[in-house]
Order: sequence, then structure tokens, then C-alpha cells
Amino acid sequence: MADLVSRRDWNARAPRGDYTQLDSTRGVKVHYTGGRVDPGIVGDHNGCVSLVQSIQRGHMDGNGWMDIGYSFVACPHRKVFVGRGLHHLPAANGAGLNVGHYAVLGLVGNAGLVQPPDGMLHGILDAIDHVRERGDAGKEIKGHRDGYATDCPGEALYAWVRRGAPRPGGGGTTPPETPPFPGRLLKYPPIMRGEDVRTWQAQMRTRGWELEADGAYGPGSRDVCRRFQRQQRVQADGIVGPTTWRLSWEAPMP
Ligand SMILES: [Zn+2]
Ligand SMILES: [Zn+2]
Repeated sequence: MADLVSRRDWNARAPRGDYTQLDSTRGVKVHYTGGRVDPGIVGDHNGCVSLVQSIQRGHMDGNGWMDIGYSFVACPHRKVFVGRGLHHLPAANGAGLNVGHYAVLGLVGNAGLVQPPDGMLHGILDAIDHVRERGDAGKEIKGHRDGYATDCPGEALYAWVRRGAPRPGGGGTTPPETPPFPGRLLKYPPIMRGEDVRTWQAQMRTRGWELEADGAYGPGSRDVCRRFQRQQRVQADGIVGPTTWRLSWEAPMP
């Protein structure tokens, strides 16, 4: 059951006009703020309230929208702010894409608070349960960047979405242990050598890709990387960065 913050509770401005009715959706698209989020909100829920108000202000006064663009907003305290709410067309997914999915924002950004705390992931999932139970939403959980050119919802939330949006610490199957990202980008040219390369190559072999675990990142590794990235629908640049590294262990086996 979602711990909802009603529009009255967060002192939302009234929408300018009537919402467009949304009978059902295929599911939900997850978003992040795209800007800097003050990490101080983690210790101060009033900061969450101010942030949601300022997002609404930006959407109404800056974008000229009739209301905040999101359907719901999840904060680090496992609270779910009501944005446009159930059965109302959101505005955040991009033109033409709003009829397909509710829009749920997690209050993280590309600077400051970047990693979603567990409470926020629970909040996003509570919002998703809510739209499924009460808003006729289907099973899809996607990122804003699926089908639209944007960084949103950021690396951390997107990797979580790609892993199937698991409940934090929530029993069930434990995912395979992901080794820490080596701290350098694995790429070619020139050929890069090292144990980190060998570790990644060995993991790709266990996923069924054909390449040698020889510790040398050359054209073969780059090509496998590109094909894997395309399969995972992340940018296919042939470079193993933090997201590709994580997906190599955490993405569901096809
Ligand atoms: Zn977005
Ligand atoms: Zn909060």
C-alpha cells in the first residue's frame, strides 16, 4: 500500500484546466529529475516537499504545462506524492508517449543525490503497485529513455529498471555478486590489457558470448560489447563503462 502524499499535503497548485482522461496504460515509465538533487533531502522530508513544488513550478511556469508532468513522485522516505494521479494523462514521457505509460519520478538527479536510497526504490514500486491496482496499468516498467532520446532516468535508476526493478533486500533469488567497477573504461583502440579485462571477458563467456578471456581488450571484445549493449538497449559504443559492467552481471540472461 502506497504511503500517499496528497496534493493538499504537498500544497500543490491547482491544475490549469481539465486533465485528459487515461483509461489504461501498458505500464509505467521511470524518471529522474535530470538536475542536481540536494542530498540533504535524505535527512529532511520537508526538502522533498519543496523540491516537488519547485518541479511543479518549472513545469507550469517554465514549460507552460497545465500541471506537474508526472503521475507520481517517490522520495527517499518511501512516500509517494500524487502528481497528476490515476487515470490522467501525464506529460513527462514525451509527445505521443504519454498515453502508453504512467510517469513516475524518483527524486534523484545527475549530481548530488544520484543513487536512489532503498526507500525511494520501494516508493517507486509502491507507486507502480498503486497504478496497477487502481489505475489499470499493465505490467511494463521502462525508463524514459526507452523510445525517447534522453539520459533519463539516469544510470542508477535505469540499471535497476533493466534488472527488472527488484524490491531492495526483498528475499527471493539473490542476484550474482557483481565485482566492483574497475574504475577505468575498457575500450579499443589501442588494445587494453589487465585483470579487469579478463574478469569482464570471463563473465561474457559465462553469458554465452564467444570471445577469449585473454585479458586483452581488442576488436573482438569491442564487438561483443557492442552487441551486448544493443541487446540491453543502452548506448552501443563498445566501451565497458559502469553501466555496461553492471549489466554484464546483473542483466537477466536472455
Ligand atoms: Zn524523464
Ligand atoms: Zn521525503
